[in-house]
Amino acid sequence: MTRVLVTGGAGYIGSIAVSMLLDSGYEVTVLDDLSTGHKSAIDSRATFVEGSILDSASIAQSLQGCEAVIHFAGKSLVGESVEKPQLYMQVNVEGSTNLLNEMKSAGVKKIVFSSSAATYGEPTESTVSEESAANPSNPYGASKLKVDELLAERSASDGVAAISLRYFNVAGALKTSSGWLRERHDPETHLIPNIFKATQEFPLKVFGTDWPTPDKTCVRDYIHVVDLINAHISALKSVQPAHHQIINLGSGDGYSVRQVIEAAARASGREIPSIDVERRAGDPAVLVASIEKAKKVLRWSPMRDLNAMVEDVFNSAN
Ligand code: UDP
Repeated sequence: MTRVLVTGGAGYIGSIAVSMLLDSGYEVTVLDDLSTGHKSAIDSRATFVEGSILDSASIAQSLQGCEAVIHFAGKSLVGESVEKPQLYMQVNVEGSTNLLNEMKSAGVKKIVFSSSAATYGEPTESTVSEESAANPSNPYGASKLKVDELLAERSASDGVAAISLRYFNVAGALKTSSGWLRERHDPETHLIPNIFKATQEFPLKVFGTDWPTPDKTCVRDYIHVVDLINAHISALKSVQPAHHQIINLGSGDGYSVRQVIEAAARASGREIPSIDVERRAGDPAVLVASIEKAKKVLRWSPMRDLNAMVEDVFNSAN
């Protein structure tokens, strides 16, 4: 049976990956320093190593018996990256370099990396393909782009089999036999979980209502986390020795902040209290994926729409 190391397996997306990999017949080791993840989110069938990707010894320990890595661990907040760019370079770039060095020592050659649409920055096309220019508009995107470049180098120099999956906006939750696995960041910055936290006293802040979009709020491409992880499992099977591929993961559809609020209001049966505020630093106006490459290379398609995402987030929080 194949054992996979999942870095960041205590986080929102990583913990759902762990559970789905185990259900698909893989064995799993999790490496996580619990800086933003939750120990309780790690499936009890997985082997857990508590440690950081900045610590080579922890990486080496967690790689024992593994044939492949899915690398989620890292810092992932655009706003925080604008304030602390060095932290993002250190954790995301140095951490990934350490991981690749330890993989080399251990003879592990397959990796699927959690990259980001933030690598593209402010796109010039209406949908973003993998051929679109990478021009990140914040240090978070810049750090993910550096790791994509590092993977390309290591595939050429060391024969690493790698796929970088560039996520657009991930949402939704997974119900398991031990409860819901869901997004629970503190502080929470992401739109959909924040929508369901909104109260009259603490309304949802709509960041910017002067964007060049149809309703003047930002447009994003939302993908259900279960669809996202199914694409990772396909990617694990699709990596080729000495090849690095970049593949976008989204739904291929764009929704404005106001449209997401309306979908959430329908799912919850209540009005969402909101106020319009200034734009948030580092946000592009529109980010929508072309997902033709994912469909072709991974033989994958997203199956869950925005309504399914908001319903799952609502149900998992209640
Ligand atoms: N957003 C918002 N209010 C919030 C959180 C997010 O208006 O409390 C907007 C944000 O400006 C962006 C979109 O919702 O246009 C998605 O933001 P999120 O932080 O969820 O993901 P990102 O696009 O930064 O990856």
